[in-house]
Amino acid sequence: MDNCIFCGIVSGAIPSKKAYEDDTILAFYDLNPQAPVHVLVVPKQHIACADEINESNSGVAAHIFEKIPEIAKSLGLTNGYRIVTNCGDDACQTVKHLHFHLLGGTKMAGEMA
Ligand code: AMP
Ligand code: ZN
Repeated sequence: MDNCIFCGIVSGAIPSKKAYEDDTILAFYDLNPQAPVHVLVVPKQHIACADEINESNSGVAAHIFEKIPEIAKSLGLTNGYRIVTNCGDDACQTVKHLHFHLLGGTKMAGEMA
């Protein structure tokens, strides 16, 4: 989709530091890390946020969750990790392309909001 930063990263037009890639998804390091390990896992197809997951595209969301354990292991996250997805304005979603923050490498705060 035009003007979408993460579509630009998927296409290679915008550079990123990749952590994992296959035909369907890409994981890359967040530019502004909020934990010692902070990567974003995104579908290659443009889906705006979790609110747009439906019967026709939920396979990609399932694939992301199938791959997260492997990605986490490859990043050395052996003591746990947090997965966060922001959807919409109240959640302060800034990039309107579905992404899952994978955070770890430290003991994180218990509060979620
Ligand atoms: P969210 O607030 O959930 O929409 O998160 C968007 C995330 O994308 C933020 O953590 C940003 O630091 C990150 N981000 C924005 N642009 C880039 C980029 N070009 N490369 C890597 N991460 C980015
Ligand atoms: Zn996009």
